Parts: sequence; C-alpha cells; structure tokens
Amino acid sequence: MVEKQYDVVVVGGGPSGATAAWDLAKAGRSVLLLDRAGRIKPCGGAVPPKLMEEFEVPQSLLVARANSARMVAPSNRAVDMPVGEIGYVGMVDRDVFDEWLRERARIAGAERRKGTFDHIERDNGEGPIVCFREERGGDMQRVRAKLVVGCDGARSAVARENIENAENMKCVFAYHEVIKSPPSTPEGFDGTRCDVLYQGHLSPDFYAWVFPHGEESSIGVGSANKGFSLRGAVKTMRDDMGLQDCETVRCEGAPIPLKPLKRWDNGRDVLVAGDAAGVVAPASGEGIYYAMTCGRIAAQTADAFVASGNPVTLKQARKTFMRAHGRVFWVLGMMQYFWYSSDKRRERFVDMCADKDVQQLTWQAYMNKKLVRAKPLAHLRIFLKDTAHLLGLRPVTR
Ligand SMILES: Cc1cc2nc3c(=O)[nH]c(=O)nc-3n(C[C@H](O)[C@H](O)[C@H](O)COP(=O)(O)OP(=O)(O)OC[C@H]3O[C@@H](n4cnc5c(N)ncnc54)[C@H](O)[C@@H]3O)c2cc1C
Repeated sequence: MVEKQYDVVVVGGGPSGATAAWDLAKAGRSVLLLDRAGRIKPCGGAVPPKLMEEFEVPQSLLVARANSARMVAPSNRAVDMPVGEIGYVGMVDRDVFDEWLRERARIAGAERRKGTFDHIERDNGEGPIVCFREERGGDMQRVRAKLVVGCDGARSAVARENIENAENMKCVFAYHEVIKSPPSTPEGFDGTRCDVLYQGHLSPDFYAWVFPHGEESSIGVGSANKGFSLRGAVKTMRDDMGLQDCETVRCEGAPIPLKPLKRWDNGRDVLVAGDAAGVVAPASGEGIYYAMTCGRIAAQTADAFVASGNPVTLKQARKTFMRAHGRVFWVLGMMQYFWYSSDKRRERFVDMCADKDVQQLTWQAYMNKKLVRAKPLAHLRIFLKDTAHLLGLRPVTR
C-alpha cells in the first residue's frame, strides 16, 4: 500500500540531496528527503569559500582554514603554494556539516525520514513508488512521487537500478584516518597547511593528503589500483610526519567517482545527482561543491519536470552542469591522466607548481570554479613551460 504522495522523493541526504531538497522545498514543492543515516561520510572535508557564499553556509561550520598547500614530489622536494589574499581552503566536519544541511531543508519545508532505499515499483498510478526500509529487516515502506532524485552517493542504488551503465562507473578508492593532531611536529606536520603528496609509494595513480581540522586531521590516500595497500600508505605518512602515536578517531574508506555518467536520467521519472551521477573533479577528487551545484541543478530540473510532466526536461540537468563545468573537468582529467602516471612525471608536476603563474591560476580556478581567462600572457607562459616539461626540455630543479 502506498502511504503518501510527494512531488519529489530525494534519496540520500549528503550535500547533493540536502541541497536539492532545500531548493525544492523553497520552490514550494512537496519533498521527502530519505536518508539511511548512521554513518559519517568518509571525507577530507576541504571546501572553497565559494561554496560557503553560493550555498549560504555559515562560517561557523568551518573547523579550520588552511592558507597554504604544500605539494610534495617523489624526491621529497616540497613546494609551498600560499593562497594569498584571494581566499582560503575551508575545512568542514561532515557529520556536523551534512546534518546542518539536512535540517535546513527540513526547516524550509522538506519532510525528513530515516530509511534505506530498496527499489522502485511502478503501477498504473501517477509516478514511481519508492520502496524503502526504516530499519534492517523492517517492513517495506512505500511512497509515491512524480520524480525520484537519486543523491545516494557513489555506487548509488538508485542509479544502478534505473540509469544505463551506472554499474560500470569508474572509481578511485579513498581511505583516510581521522586522528587527534598536535598544532605541529618537528617532522614537518603543520596544522595550518594542507599537504598533498605526489609520490608513487604513497599512491601509484592519485595522491595522498594531510588536511588539518583544528584539533583533528584527515590523513588519507586514493588509488584505483586494487592491489595497493592504502592502509600501509597512511601508516607510512603518519610515521614520516611524527603522527604515529596520535589517537586514531576513525578509519574509513569510500569510492570517489572518476567521471560523470553519460546519462543522469532514465527518460521517464528518475534523475541522479552528485556522486551518484559521477560528479567529482578529476585530479583533485573535489566533490562537495560539485555535489551541491549538481543538487541545485537537479532541483531546478525537477521543478520544471513537475510543472510540465515532460520527461525530456530531465536531460537539461546534465547539459546545464556540463556547460558550466565540463571544460574544467576535461582539463583536470587530462592532468590526472598525464601527470599522475609515473614518479618522473609527478616530479615535473610538482616542479611546475613552484611557478608563481601556475600558483595564481590554480588558486583562482579553485576559488572561482572556472578557468580564469583574465591573463592571456600568463596562460601562454604556462603553456610554453608545460610543453617544455612534457618534452623533458626543462630540467627539474632541486
Ligand atoms: C576519503 C574521501 C575524501 C574526500 N575528500 C574530499 C574533500 O576534501 N573535499 C571534497 O570536496 N570532496 C572530497 N571527497 C568527495 C566528497 O566526499 C563527495 O564527492 C561528496 O560527499 C558527494 O556528495 P553526495 O551528496 O553526492 O554524496 P554523499 O556525500 O556520499 O551522500 C550520500 C548520502 O546518501 C545516503 N545513502 C546512501 N545509500 C542510501 C540508500 N540506499 N538509501 C538512503 N540513503 C542512502 C548516505 O547516507 C549519504 O547521506 C572525498 C571523498 C572520499 C571518499
């Protein structure tokens, strides 16, 4: 028996789903936000200031602000990239951050329910029936919606059931340990700085990181190489940075999608967003800002779909997102493919990061979430240097 009817059921209450539900509730749509809860999302928690402004998130949710990033090459050569005046890298704790977003959606009018999505049924009524259980082994609950928006993360059950090829989504697996950390250590840990380590022994195809969160830190690593020991790499980093004896708060891992899915809708009554749609920036693994952007676009698309009933409208979600961010994703994808493939290339990549133009353009792109066109000469200089590096014409400075 169908218990209730909504305009939209959003499955998953992470940054993407909570943003979609918030926007839909503000638009006056009846919306159910269904989240299985009970697990903190494994995440480094790094967010740009643009996220805080664009999605009206209070600064009080930031547990730390990093004002510099240290890029470390295979040779251990370290290049510091100060952010300068243009911003900072914010740090959020996902348990607090995600719950705040879900509560904001509820206050705006979305109904919140705890439950695990199971499957979708269809009958002769208007719209799909979302079937879920409130607890393991509990009775199946059924609610009807005009549209289901799947924001249930990488390996999304909604996407796997309803979207072509979603089960083949390529991912990096990321693992991190949250530890109680001191302000600094003689071995080089610094609680005001993000460290990004490009070293084959720590990650053969992605990178490793140390992100400070006030009294805690996230020490993590990603790789798509199934035989590689992520735990071993984190242990090495903790030993090297003098963090081996710090209290470990949590050890956890999760997949990070590598590429947006080719389709985000089923041409009928289901749309996916955020990690469920594969939307994470290649090379950096940045997903929170893009999940929220995608959630917002999904809400706009859902609103138009509910108004018109026209399934063709659903295609608009992917088109809108890719128009705004497709180029950046493409450039980052090429970067990851080329620069992360060997220690020799990683060494050159870190070497390039010492360039002031590269630093400025990198931070501007991170802060503004687009490729900055304002300095054509700097772009030309970087292009020439980049080409020289690619061809091995430029020596690596040590
Ligand atoms: C180790 C690691 C470190 C990362 N570090 C960063 C970082 O520093 N900065 C950054 O920007 N990004 C980072 N990312 C990526 C970022 O975490 C994700 O891109 C982002 O969380 C995606 O948001 P989302 O809302 O799409 O999905 P999620 O955050 O995964 O949320 C999915 C939600 O769906 C719910 N759910 C799942 N299945 C079901 C179901 N069957 N029924 C009901 N509910 C369900 C879950 O409970 C969860 O609340 C990291 C990822 C990993 C794995």
